[in-house]
This record gives sequence, C-alpha cells and structure tokens, in this order.
Amino acid sequence: MRVFNCDHCGHLVFFDSVQCVHCGSTLAFLPDALTMAALAPAPQDGAGLWRRMGGRGTAQYSGRLYRLCHNHIEHQACNFAVPANDYAEYCVSCRQTRVLPDLSETANRGRWMQIEAAKRRLFYTLARLGLEPAPGRPGPVFEFLADLPGGPSIMTGHHSGTITLNVAEADDDERARRRIALGEPYRTLIGHLRHESGHFYWDQLVRDGGRLEAFRSVFGDESQDYAAALDAHYAKGNDVGDWAERHVSAYAAAHPWEDWAETWAHYLHMIDLLETSASYGTEITVPGIYGAQRSSALDPFAKPAPDFDTMLLQLVPLTLLLNSLTRSLGQPDAYPFALAGEALEKLRFVHDMVREEANRPTVPPVPALATVTATIAPVPAPSPSSAPVAAVNAVPAAPTPASKPNIKKNSKQANKDLR
Ligand SMILES: [Zn+2]
Ligand SMILES: [Zn+2]
Ligand SMILES: [Zn+2]
Repeated sequence: MRVFNCDHCGHLVFFDSVQCVHCGSTLAFLPDALTMAALAPAPQDGAGLWRRMGGRGTAQYSGRLYRLCHNHIEHQACNFAVPANDYAEYCVSCRQTRVLPDLSETANRGRWMQIEAAKRRLFYTLARLGLEPAPGRPGPVFEFLADLPGGPSIMTGHHSGTITLNVAEADDDERARRRIALGEPYRTLIGHLRHESGHFYWDQLVRDGGRLEAFRSVFGDESQDYAAALDAHYAKGNDVGDWAERHVSAYAAAHPWEDWAETWAHYLHMIDLLETSASYGTEITVPGIYGAQRSSALDPFAKPAPDFDTMLLQLVPLTLLLNSLTRSLGQPDAYPFALAGEALEKLRFVHDMVREEANRPTVPPVPALATVTATIAPVPAPSPSSAPVAAVNAVPAAPTPASKPNIKKNSKQANKDLR
C-alpha cells in the first residue's frame, strides 16, 4: 500500500488515517479517486455532506461532495467516503459485507473492525488492478461469523461468490494457535481475504473466463475430488514433502484450487510490497562478493507498468531487506517464503491474466451479485445499490455438502481449518 499526503497541507498520511496530525483536517479515502483526501464539512450543501478541500488554489480546492461511510458515523469503523451522488449509506467496501457477528459483544466489535480494515486494503489493491466491483463486474460478498456455543465451527472459505470468515481469526492468540497447529509460517487477516478472493476470481476469470485449459496446464486438474485431496493432504501433514519446488506454500499443494488461491494471494502480497516500497522511493543495494546489486522499486501500477520479470527482480532484494529489518527487531520473518521455478510460473500466469483483464472493457450488467443462503437467518435481502450491513446475531451456516465443484468449505473438516 502506498503512503499518501494530506492534500490540504502535504503532511504524510496513511490509508487508515482519519485525521491529519499536522493540519487537523478530517481525512477519508475516496474510492472514486483511489486517494486519501482532506474534507471540510459542507452543511450548506446538504446534511452530512463534506467537500474535498485540496490545497488552496489547486483544482481540488472547491472539490466534489461526499458523505462519510455509515460505518464511520455509527461505529468509527471505516474511513472510506461515499460520493454524494451515490445514494448508498455504506461505502463500496462495507456494502459488500452481508452478515456480521453480534456487535453488542465488545470482542466481536473489535474483531469486525480489524477485518473490515483488512478488507479495505483488499478493495484498494483489487481496484488498482481494475477488479473492483462495478456495473457488469460483481465482487465477492462477505459474511463474518462467530462460533456459537453448541453450534458447528464456522469454516473460513468461499462458496458461490460469498466469502465467509470466522471472526476468531482477528484474535492474535487464536490465529497464532492455528498457525502453529497447521504448520504455517504466515497467517494474517489480509492473507485470508486475499486467498479467499482468489477462489472468487477463479470462478469469475478462469472458470467463466474461458481459461480452464490454460489453468490446468499450469496448476493441474481441479476436477479431482476436493474433499479427498484435502483429507490426503492433512493425513500426510501440511508442511511435508517437496512442495517448495512447485508451490508458493505447503497448503497450495493440497489441491489445484488451493494452489491457485495461494498463488493469487501471493501475487497480491507481491504487488502491495512493491507499491509500498516504490512510494517510499526505495533503492536497495544487496552486497555480494562479486559486486553489489542495486535495485530501485518501481510502482507496479505505473504506466507503462513494469513487466513480471522486472517486478520479480525487485521483489527478491526487497524481501531480503524486509526480513533483515524484522530480524533486527527480534521479530520473525515478515516474508517467510522462498519461491522456486514452477511457483514463479504460476505467479506469472496470475499476472498475465490480471493484465489481460485490466485491458478488457467491462461487460453489460448481470443480475444479482450473490444471494444470502437460506441457512443463515435472519438476514435482510441484499440490495445491490445500497446493500445494508446486516447487524445480526449471526446463526452459523448449516453444513454445506462438498458435492459441487466450486464448494471450498466442508463442515466435516472443522479441525483442519479449510479455506
Ligand atoms: Zn494536513
Ligand atoms: Zn465503509
Ligand atoms: Zn482456499
């Protein structure tokens, strides 16, 4: 994620900022402009409206009108703005959330806010890649659920356009416990959301995008029994065997769908790391006995955009520096991955596909984004234009049979944490 500057005073601000610490301006992220901006109240233009301030004398100084996302007004849980001509109460990110845990429980409220913050980061990167929800291009919808006493464990996973996340993943201790139990070096909220979005975009861009044969030639045959493949993977142990020669992670070796989702998530990690380092103007020199290697980070969203090989050349020294810095502070490696040949070709496949999609005009609108399943009640019917966040005490979904090819969660696997 790049860093931003307050567009009123120029001070450094961040994607999560809500106020400029230098000039005191209210800050919000403008999804229509993909930037942070300073806003001034504009009650003369309408209740709850804010005007983009910009710098005095600049083009933005008497700028567009916005409202703050309803989740900011009600919970201080979001810093996205809504353009005044968009009649939705919730911002483009929050409106994709359809089911919440019981927010009257303080712990759930904190978990939800952390998850939404990670989801806004996912929105940003997808939007920069040209994949954000738009007319004719649906995005995933989200259900954030808590385990309830006596109920089945909530499985994190994707099913038919809906991403479900067990909110316990927002608790550091629980996430660390699962990470160790499953032999994973990396487990984060943004990692989960990126992974699950990979399943969503597989349906959209691979299965429905005419790329199935190309996918199989790189990732293998995904029509093999998913539940059996996962059973076999975990029976063997997650982190065993020679997976590192072909996959970005041990879990990716479980099934071609998981290989894809892990690779997709890794591609988003890569893009975000490069964007961050480019926004700081990072130049890295890696010392070596045959001479120093110098590298300057390029913005992956620059025009023209750097090609895949160039990005990869920049990623390697960047991750060396990153891990050296975290070790300096006694922390584990921030980037606990080492990519080999076949895994890199899979990343290249994702890159080529995303670039291809970015250059494709959007198709005419299609009907519903997704429907909330009848197994969760009570949930208001989603409205594509102003989808309300359903602040309900969520009832866990009933077990979902893993009979259809695109079902990627399985209630029988509760102790194995399928995703
Ligand atoms: Zn400022
Ligand atoms: Zn919002
Ligand atoms: Zn998965």
